[in-house]
Amino acid sequence: MDCVFCKIINGEIPSNIVYSDDDMVIFPDISPKAPIHYLAVPKVHYPLIADVEGELIGKMLTRISTLANKLGLQKGYRLVINQRGTEGNDAGQEVMHLHIHIMGGRKL
Ligand code: AMP
Ligand code: ZN
Repeated sequence: MDCVFCKIINGEIPSNIVYSDDDMVIFPDISPKAPIHYLAVPKVHYPLIADVEGELIGKMLTRISTLANKLGLQKGYRLVINQRGTEGNDAGQEVMHLHIHIMGGRKL
């Protein structure tokens, strides 16, 4: 599949994966919007939240919260999920493989 995040997950595109489990990977955003900016990405290609089956997103949020200090986010962090709409893209979702932005390292 021609998806940049699938290619990172299967190793076709190099990335510094800092965390991996059965459900997801975490790697740095290539164009960081904060001093610390990671992407948490499910291993299964779901374009949108509406496509997800099961408890995946809840598991991802819990996992992120337990990893936060290891990621340098002791002072807190912001999670963002951009979603393309049925008739437009106000949030600017660029990559149509669901991902959670994890940002911190300064006052946001
Ligand atoms: P979104 O606008 O929510 O779809 O965000 C997509 C994010 O993916 C952007 O912040 C990009 O900087 C990031 N991105 C695109 N390609 C790569 C890549 N090869 N490695 C890491 N991050 C990427
Ligand atoms: Zn994908």
